[in-house]
Amino acid sequence: MKMAVESHSHQQKPHAAEPLDHSTSLELRFTPQPPGRENLARLAGFNLDRPAHVDRLTDLLSNLPDWQRLARPRGVYRLLKVATLEAHRLKLEDNATYRGAIGQFLAHVQWVAPFVVTIGSALERLARRRMQAGKLLEGTVIDALASELVENAADQLQQRVREWAHDRDLEITPRYSPGYCGLDMSSQMTLFQQIDAARINVHLTGSHLMLPIKSVSGLIGIGPADRVSPEGYPCSRCSHPDCMMRRAPSELPEQ
Ligand code: SF4
Repeated sequence: MKMAVESHSHQQKPHAAEPLDHSTSLELRFTPQPPGRENLARLAGFNLDRPAHVDRLTDLLSNLPDWQRLARPRGVYRLLKVATLEAHRLKLEDNATYRGAIGQFLAHVQWVAPFVVTIGSALERLARRRMQAGKLLEGTVIDALASELVENAADQLQQRVREWAHDRDLEITPRYSPGYCGLDMSSQMTLFQQIDAARINVHLTGSHLMLPIKSVSGLIGIGPADRVSPEGYPCSRCSHPDCMMRRAPSELPEQ
């Protein structure tokens, strides 16, 4: 499998177009972005309406280690044409097949971008060491910071795919990750067979979890702008019992 590498940050104007060689995986390296304070507070369990929480969080953040040096956000993805798309089955041009409601969630897409992003393991190891040393709050904030940074890396990769789509008058769907949104956890196997995640040092465990833990994988659909939407989360048609990212109540009948 061939691999192209490029750097990308919010400050840089991305290249106008990807090569249309579908065997090529693209590797991106991102600039770590400052964490969103509200998300960080939510992830670490702080209430920004309470002055004591604000002061404590401010104090912890001002004493954080050099997270820009410890985080190494990077990602890899491919752009693949859809071969066949049914309500519960998606087959791509390389014969990779995903089963489940993802077929329904990706209705109308013509291309799919499987991807993996990571920030590496340094921050999660630091968080663990702090917790083992009894500094639970500090470890929790560092862990939340790492979660925020990897989501930001996924946002940046998604933006790269969006620009590729817009260059062709197409639009993207939200990103869908194994374990959520109609994708069984076992679909990680399919995804990792499609792209060379080892290139960015991300590996699967036997239970389909990723190492480093602060990694995100998934699929982004690309299709006609009048048929797909990046905000088009299918939560009202999803019965996931405890999804933390639910954006609308389920309208499905209770089972
Ligand atoms: S509730 Fe929404 S975000 Fe969560 S798994 Fe279902 S579709 Fe995905």
